Amino acid sequence: MVKVPELFGCMVFNDQTMQERLPKATYRALKKTIQDGAPLDISVANVVASAMKDWAIEKGCTHYTHWFQPMTGVTAEKHDSFISPNGDGQIIMEFSGKELIKGEPDASSFPSGGIRATFEARGYTTWDPTSYAFAKDGTLYIPTAFCSYTGEVLDKKTPLLRSMERISTEAVKILNLLGKTEVTRVTTTVGPEQEYFLIDKEMYDQREDLIYTGRTLFGAKAPKGQELDDHYFGAIKTRVAAYMRDLDEELWKLGILAKTKHNEVAPSQHELAPIFTTTNIATDHNELTMEIMKKVAEKHNLVCLLHEKPFAGINGSGKHNNWSISTNTGENLLDPGKEPENNTQFLLFLAAIVKAVHEYQDLLRITVASAGNDHRLGANEAPPAIISMYLGDDLGALVDSIINDTEYVSKGKVKMQTGVDVLPDFKKDTSDRNRTSPFAFTGNKFEFRALGSSLNIACPNYMLNTMVAEELSQFYDELKDASDIEAAVKALIKKTLTEHQAIIFNGDNYAEEWVVEAEKRGLLNLKSLPEAIAHFIDKKNIDLFVKNKICSEEELQARYEIELESYSKQINIEALTMIDMAKKNILPAVSSYIRELTDTALAKKALSAAIPTSVEEEIVTSLSNKLVCFSKKTSELEEAVIKAAEFSNDNLAQATFFRETVFAIMQELRAVGDSMETETSSEYWPYPSYGEMLFGV
Ligand code: ADP
Ligand code: MG
Repeated sequence: MVKVPELFGCMVFNDQTMQERLPKATYRALKKTIQDGAPLDISVANVVASAMKDWAIEKGCTHYTHWFQPMTGVTAEKHDSFISPNGDGQIIMEFSGKELIKGEPDASSFPSGGIRATFEARGYTTWDPTSYAFAKDGTLYIPTAFCSYTGEVLDKKTPLLRSMERISTEAVKILNLLGKTEVTRVTTTVGPEQEYFLIDKEMYDQREDLIYTGRTLFGAKAPKGQELDDHYFGAIKTRVAAYMRDLDEELWKLGILAKTKHNEVAPSQHELAPIFTTTNIATDHNELTMEIMKKVAEKHNLVCLLHEKPFAGINGSGKHNNWSISTNTGENLLDPGKEPENNTQFLLFLAAIVKAVHEYQDLLRITVASAGNDHRLGANEAPPAIISMYLGDDLGALVDSIINDTEYVSKGKVKMQTGVDVLPDFKKDTSDRNRTSPFAFTGNKFEFRALGSSLNIACPNYMLNTMVAEELSQFYDELKDASDIEAAVKALIKKTLTEHQAIIFNGDNYAEEWVVEAEKRGLLNLKSLPEAIAHFIDKKNIDLFVKNKICSEEELQARYEIELESYSKQINIEALTMIDMAKKNILPAVSSYIRELTDTALAKKALSAAIPTSVEEEIVTSLSNKLVCFSKKTSELEEAVIKAAEFSNDNLAQATFFRETVFAIMQELRAVGDSMETETSSEYWPYPSYGEMLFGV
């Protein structure tokens, strides 16, 4: 039996460990840095580093690494050992404060979007003491932020940390103005629900599309999909349960609050949700979770797929970003309380969020845009590409009454009678969940549901924090000189909600009518990354980031280029993989099968003219025709990929070409391929089928 409380956090240099291992004065100084962002003295860092090293060695570590989150891809790390020669041919294990605080990875291979010239490719990482160091695979991991030698931001963590400062500063100003003078710090909290697929390793190894691109590029539908919903409600299979148990333990060791696990809608799809925590830590933990998910899968001879759309025609995977704001005094600012109609503080924060989502809907859309997520958004499963907000019946009615100056009648909490005596009656959650909304109020937090499963959550969260900070700062300017603050706040709430009500939508986001209605309301419908990202460098967005000191205009431009580049690269890899599969495996396989059928037909004929050969001949004709088309489409795709390279000096034009031309041909090629699969003997078909992959575990 595992003792969870003992296991939990055993590989983390957390607060408790620090208290035990650091001299009191050092601990206090470090704590001040963590809580108030006070600069850390090198003498303090030396003591911390030495204690960290001793602890890490006890956990079996020989190396340390500065762990960071570059602008594309997953996390990055470079390992250095603790060894240091002592002069007489022996070594001692050493780790200095300087090494803890600052690292210099060779940054030339990380994308910078043209910020750094290659000759000054160096960047450095700086310790982020607000996220605990941890031990994993014999290495001490130190969470860090990453920037260039001249100070430009090259990672996702720095903007996140800055945005957390910004929202804290602005929220505290407002709260102090409202009389809450005891509040000195505000933090945003996040609980990300992570979806994933698990498939058998043996199947995976036979699919070069999964290996190179994370998704299947060919694959005919299985006879059974997700129509029975039986997977969602079904019991977790033994092999999956064993995986989940192992996963939980590994996550707990790293102090990750893995809480909920269950099957998801699609066959072979599952979800894991942690208990929420501070945004910065939640981000690091989510990155770790994704990594550990893959690693633990290997041990079980499984592969964990985190791609947004591994299988066409089957639900893709997303990530729900549950986001809230709370004070150092323990108050959740998004908790409406018992009487939201009288809770002006809550309504003011709500108004700020409504305004933010309305004004920066493009940024929210951009932050979840990726080649992978383009397969989901707007495809009738994830929320649509149109960003809107859902407030629920109760809060929606309250907002309506404020806008229209009518009396608010709470629909109240409906008491549900379960009919079974032993079960206590429960209150029906009045913010009944609208599963189709991309941004839904769920009781005491907002749930941003448009994220793709592989996304680093730092990005949507720094957008959210920054845009809400901006609105709060505008609110403060409007309110600070008011003689009657209560009246001024109420007027501001009414004005804001009235001006921005267009972003609130409580209906079905998948309905055709919503697309029309949203357009009437002037809401954006940005269907793909190239379409969406063009707005990234709109003046209002540059102003937002620059004014709030999240990043400079050059850094934004760099981010914009990087997004486009990586989008094009990804589709390029997919196209090349398809061509490879088509030419080297599918075409020869179908051709061999045709030959076998032809041989059979000829053999039959040779035996006796009376034996019918119509079945073989029909299939031969059909497949031969399709094969011609397949081969033609493959050539077309090859030409398109070559053509795409010509746009290399214009990232937006190139990405658009990949989307509109290359991707479109890929879809056509796939359609022919999948149709051939349905007619080809599985003995000949070179790849495991959807049925085998989705129902094989
Ligand atoms: P559902 O699937 O119904 O949306 P879950 O329980 O799976 O609900 O996920 C809800 C998530 O929201 C959990 O990760 C939870 O910790 C998180 N959450 C709850 N309260 C807050 C909060 N105040 N701030 C951020 N996240 C929160
Ligand atoms: Mg959810």
